[in-house]
Amino acid sequence: MNTLDPVYRGRFAPSPTGPLHFGSLVAAAGSFLEARTKGGEWLLRMEDVDAPRCSQAAADDILRTLEACGFAWDGEVVWQSRRTAAYAVALERLKAAGLVFACACTRKELADSAIAPDGAAIYPGTCRQGLAASRPARAWRLRVGNAHVGFDDAIQGRIDSDLAVDAGDFIVLRADGLFAYQLAVAVDDADAGITHVVRGADLLASTARQIFLQQCLGLPTPCYAHLPVAVNAAGEKLSKQTRATALDAARPGPALFAALEFLGQRPPAEMSGASPGELWPWATRHWRLDRVPRGPLCPAVTGGIIAP
Ligand SMILES: [Zn+2]
Repeated sequence: MNTLDPVYRGRFAPSPTGPLHFGSLVAAAGSFLEARTKGGEWLLRMEDVDAPRCSQAAADDILRTLEACGFAWDGEVVWQSRRTAAYAVALERLKAAGLVFACACTRKELADSAIAPDGAAIYPGTCRQGLAASRPARAWRLRVGNAHVGFDDAIQGRIDSDLAVDAGDFIVLRADGLFAYQLAVAVDDADAGITHVVRGADLLASTARQIFLQQCLGLPTPCYAHLPVAVNAAGEKLSKQTRATALDAARPGPALFAALEFLGQRPPAEMSGASPGELWPWATRHWRLDRVPRGPLCPAVTGGIIAP
């Protein structure tokens, strides 16, 4: 990899919890095209920090499918599961700065908590002032206080978040000993020198927490662009849970064509049967971020690759 800092360094960061589906392909294509057309690098990171939900077989399958789709990434694939030491250093820095606190609450004790917009429980603050001697620490949480985080998303526009309302004191080290996704992503993006994050709008609600972590750790904040998320006819995000169809690695052209259409790029109809080798040159020549539909959700209605 170039040792000089490029103007643009993007990444695609799938979670290997299942095969690559249409929604992930959209995020991969959008981040790849935006990086390549800016003359930037495009890195690949496996977000397998939540080890119990991830599998090596799914990761291998995603890598094979990306290669079949003609994606070429810069440098080695980064695996979150191998970066525990970096996350531990970040947690120690947060502890030393008094920005985190130990939490002894069980899931049951938090069951009556208010619910954040993303469906997670908002921490009621029980352990914020310290634990009783008899209570063992289970997790570590970041104090959000009255922090407000705002950023200008290149697709979704201005996003402002009142962290106490939208997230609450959130977990950085889980009760099962695993580092939380938000901490891992903030540390990973900084360590990789990521300048631009292009990803699905399903992660829009996470962004304020990641920016707040960057601020707490003294890390730079990348530019963000959140692509619309492909939903099925019932309005559900395409995922393993909604039985989204896995991509056919033996015939990736139609899915890639549909992803370009979904991203508002208007590939010509005569290219609907084209191979990735034919589609990528067209896509890089014609890519325009300002054609990507705004709004966090967008139905995937093309070419028989919709979730059933
Ligand atoms: Zn607690």
